[in-house]
Amino acid sequence: MGPEKKKRVGIMGGTFDPIHIGHLILAECAYEQFQLDTVLFLPSGNPPHKPERKDGATDQERLAMVALAIQDNPHFSLDSEEMYRSGFTYTYETLRLMKERHPEEEYYFIIGADSLMAFDTWRNPEQICENCVLLAAVRDRMDTASMEQKIDELHRSMGAEIYLLQSPNIDISSTKLRKSYRNHQSIRYFVPERVLDYIRENHIYE
Ligand code: ATP
Ligand code: MG
Repeated sequence: MGPEKKKRVGIMGGTFDPIHIGHLILAECAYEQFQLDTVLFLPSGNPPHKPERKDGATDQERLAMVALAIQDNPHFSLDSEEMYRSGFTYTYETLRLMKERHPEEEYYFIIGADSLMAFDTWRNPEQICENCVLLAAVRDRMDTASMEQKIDELHRSMGAEIYLLQSPNIDISSTKLRKSYRNHQSIRYFVPERVLDYIRENHIYE
């Protein structure tokens, strides 16, 4: 890799409470379709839009589950940057810090359609756009036309560079998994086997 070529780094941000195959498939699709060198999984510290996660896993448990889920994929890694910051954690700050530390890296932030639609409610979205390209994947069977319209709008209003990620619609969310598990319904195959073992052993979501 010559000095002129920037390292292409995907960022899969999320609460990961718990991490599930939707997150993993998105990250793998982004890696492949955008010729990324690596994808960082970035568990959110204390996101302002989810202040009360009372029935959820602890930070350490969320970190451990992500580590277990990605351990056999050599181009995935865990970034615990947001875990050790106090107060609310904002993506724009995390990205600014990452860019300062690694000016040679180019960031591709991976999001689902729900995050795309809510993107302008994030703190300082235009600053996020200065530091990364967004890759947006379908979710809840949202039609591509609506997503493209939103992409256009964000491009015009804040110069966002956003691309559609080609991925199957994966009908799964952490919220549904927590509920199912609590109701003694199987979540097997929705999360990696090691993650399920960890949830059981540590009595999370009971
Ligand atoms: P919760 O129900 O707790 O909000 P979640 O399943 O939405 O959990 P998050 O950690 O909130 O997972 O998601 C992180 C990112 O991954 C978001 O940008 C979200 O849109 C995306 N994402 C999560 N699950 C899917 C999915 N099944 N399909 C597409 N995108 C997804
Ligand atoms: Mg969510």
